[in-house]
Amino acid sequence: MGESKAKILRRLEEACRARGLPLTAQRRIVLEELLRRTDHPTADQLFEAVRTLSPQIARRTVYRVLDTLAELGLVRRVHHPGAAVRYDAKTHRHHHLVCQRCNRIVDLENAELDRIPLPRGTWHGFTIADFSVQLIGLCPACRKLKKSIP
Ligand SMILES: [Zn+2]
Ligand SMILES: [Zn+2]
Repeated sequence: MGESKAKILRRLEEACRARGLPLTAQRRIVLEELLRRTDHPTADQLFEAVRTLSPQIARRTVYRVLDTLAELGLVRRVHHPGAAVRYDAKTHRHHHLVCQRCNRIVDLENAELDRIPLPRGTWHGFTIADFSVQLIGLCPACRKLKKSIP
């Protein structure tokens, strides 16, 4: 299960303090926006949302904040080939249902997938930190759309 929002914001405070980084309003606002959402937004989508709350924020600031949050382990980058990097405030192990038509990403918690054994040591020279399974297909809206095509 995930952590509460308050707990994650406390982790942000602690991580910033430990690294001697200021807990800027921008860091907090970007993380709060990401915590509020489950759609795994891109940096640009986060920028558009955050700008309505904090009109003076710059796009490059949002990009930089996301890099910092990822470095601090407070957000994860979800890589989906062929699309912009998407961000996730859920950093515990979980999986994703990915729509190949509209690029929608939905979280999937599944104990069976969690138990896939990780290889010990290195694999092809990579040390393995964690894993996430992407199940690729069509979301309900896109399935409906497909059916309506004659
Ligand atoms: Zn879809
Ligand atoms: Zn996720």
